[in-house]
Amino acid sequence: MLVDYSKCTAAGQCLLAAPNVFDQSAENGTIVLLDEAPPESEYPRVLDAVNRCPASVISLANESGTTLR
Ligand code: SF4
Repeated sequence: MLVDYSKCTAAGQCLLAAPNVFDQSAENGTIVLLDEAPPESEYPRVLDAVNRCPASVISLANESGTTLR
């Protein structure tokens, strides 16, 4: 899973949906991806985060092309 930080608006919807996977920097408010390959138990929350993201910058594919679905 990847986040295009250059297009992230730091609205925090992903953090609300999946707090075990996303965090927000206390310093500058940018989003921090805590777990690039979350366990299957997190998939529903991660998919909710993807759907909530207003900038559509969360990709479920990792660098090797593997997706969560
Ligand atoms: S929901 Fe999307 S745009 Fe908003 S902080 Fe998360 S990754 Fe960034």
